[in-house]
Amino acid sequence: MTKNNHDKAEADITTQGQNPYEIVKSLLKESVHTLGLNENVYHVLKKPMRMFEVSIPVRMDDGSIENFTGYRSQHIDILGPTKGGIRFHPKVTVDEVKALSIWMSLKAAIVDLPFGGGKGGVIVDPEKLSERELETLSRTYIRKITPIIGPQKDIPAPDVNTNPEVMGWMVDEFDQLRGYNIPGMVTGKPIIIGGSLGRLEATGRGVVITIREAARVLDLDLSNATAALQGFGNVGSMTAKFLHELGVKIVAVTDAKGGIYNKEGLDIPDLLDFVGDKENYASDYKNADPITNEEMFGLDVDILIPAAIENQVNKQTAPTIKAKILAEAANGPTTPEGDKILEEKGIFVIPDILCNAGGVTVSYFEWVQNNMNYYWKEDEINKKLEEKMLFGFESVTEMRKEKDCRMRDAAYMVGINHLVKAMHARGWIKDSDLSQS
Ligand code: NAD
Repeated sequence: MTKNNHDKAEADITTQGQNPYEIVKSLLKESVHTLGLNENVYHVLKKPMRMFEVSIPVRMDDGSIENFTGYRSQHIDILGPTKGGIRFHPKVTVDEVKALSIWMSLKAAIVDLPFGGGKGGVIVDPEKLSERELETLSRTYIRKITPIIGPQKDIPAPDVNTNPEVMGWMVDEFDQLRGYNIPGMVTGKPIIIGGSLGRLEATGRGVVITIREAARVLDLDLSNATAALQGFGNVGSMTAKFLHELGVKIVAVTDAKGGIYNKEGLDIPDLLDFVGDKENYASDYKNADPITNEEMFGLDVDILIPAAIENQVNKQTAPTIKAKILAEAANGPTTPEGDKILEEKGIFVIPDILCNAGGVTVSYFEWVQNNMNYYWKEDEINKKLEEKMLFGFESVTEMRKEKDCRMRDAAYMVGINHLVKAMHARGWIKDSDLSQS
């Protein structure tokens, strides 16, 4: 990435900068109230149980030492160990990591996984590091958070700018420290060292299952539908692959560097080939016209999929949206102002904590396989993923009907209800906390 493009991508991220932790707290509070629960429930859920900050000194290739800052947030462990990805990004903040860990708790609860939410982040621009520097950073971060992670405590996974290769270094570092193989300490690993078949595709596959179900609700024929996507990393590219297989015409794709457009539909298999092992940006693909992120949001398509970072559907972009379905493949892509506009426009939102739950679901399957040391075939994993995603989608749409509310509020309420049952069973909250008076 050239310096100019890089600066532009960072500006895109920060101009709409809203604090995701404040957003998640306010949504939690509202949902606790709508469920008729006492505010005490909110007070338990509003803060991660543990927030760890570490320094990560790395010897750079030029001989200097740069000291990076990393975080790991663990929200709540009433259902099992905490679980969630690790993000490498220059704009990582404490509050972002806290919010992401709370979303992970709700997500796991919606699809009924025995996990709480966790999340990690390192303030770094991996594009500026050599491969050796990136490996040293990844290994040092794991060494620093070793006291609080492990297969029964907290299990990391990939997120923005981290991938199976990084997970491979991380599990290796942990194993070397402990002196034996512990594959279940991290998920999203390369298959050969205990990764699960289907994990790389899982988040995108899950996103497409929820889009298929939303289309059923709206009576939308997907074989005649069009879509546009922001982000063509792990989640975006896999979402494009499976949507294309369902016959959806994907007319635009954007990424941190720009975007591409073809009103006849992009050749997705060719684009996937071109991007390959993330050697190329989708926006460098030649057989298409250029398009900006802003223009992409306003396209006349049936399905819009933010699959990049937070706060992209906001008071600037939401008024231009014409799509019938907004599938939040990314975490926290919509600001409260953006959400209000989507509601006024009657757009069917598949909220992030439901839409992208396929990733943590197959991470759970990976962890189960690691624990029993027996590995399933991909068909079996995909079938189990489908069951979990359908369960989550149905629970949320039923709650939406019952409370006559937005899909987002319904998803929060399903997640909170599940956590409340466990909190009550453990005696963290009493009968008196189950009502407002
Ligand atoms: P990734 O690093 O593989 O890809 C991120 C993509 O977003 C890249 O194409 C990048 O160019 C693009 N991008 C970054 N900044 C942008 C900007 N300002 N404008 C437009 N595009 C931009 O990350 P990923 O794993 O695909 O994660 C994407 C989102 O999905 C994140 O919000 C992540 O938290 C969420 N998510 C990921 C998983 C998973 O399994 N990887 C699971 C659940 C949720």
